[in-house]
Amino acid sequence: LNYQAACFITSAPTLAKCPPDSGAEVAFAGRSNAGKSSAINALTRQKALARTSKTPGRTQLINFFGLGEDSDRRLVDLPGYGYAKVPEQVKLEWQRHLSDYLRRRGSLRGLVLVMDVRHPLSEFDQTLLGWADEADMPVHILLTKADKLKSGAAKGALQQVRSRLHEWEDLVSIQLFSALKKQGIEEVHARLDQWLLD
Ligand code: GDP
Repeated sequence: LNYQAACFITSAPTLAKCPPDSGAEVAFAGRSNAGKSSAINALTRQKALARTSKTPGRTQLINFFGLGEDSDRRLVDLPGYGYAKVPEQVKLEWQRHLSDYLRRRGSLRGLVLVMDVRHPLSEFDQTLLGWADEADMPVHILLTKADKLKSGAAKGALQQVRSRLHEWEDLVSIQLFSALKKQGIEEVHARLDQWLLD
């Protein structure tokens, strides 16, 4: 698929308002500041398709990007989570939407979970993995900002996350990534191709 052809389709304030549930889509999730927007921009080779978060936690929308002319294959940028200033009620509401989306969205083929390689598997990352497991939804984990660690340390972090997720190895794949160094892009494209072209 031509990821460079990605273009903005629409924003939705809630998953109830998202575009028709047809075709195939892949959703990107991650803790605020993990590097999700930078990853989406690197994968599509665009500078500002996904807005990098200067002000995390402001009213967040779900953004849909179409690959090419039709919007039959989509990348979905989910709001970042974990930002402390969001009221508890809003957090719980959003979590309910998200778990519904994972279970009910027929066109959803997989979830890309973005984690800072230095702070992997936050509590909510683990909650999300649990929901994906319940929904039988495959997950591809990007351990991003790999450039922040020396190569050996990055590989060590990868092994550690792999071993912690060992019981989920049928559903979960994991790789190192760096938006800054454009590292790991082909590997992500290959995974997205598997999901979106299936
Ligand atoms: P988001 O909140 O998950 O969308 O995170 P952003 O993409 O906005 O990135 C958060 C911060 O991490 C920004 O200052 C980025 O410049 C930085 N960042 C993102 N990806 C990388 C990366 O691969 N390497 C490095 N060194 N910094 C990164």
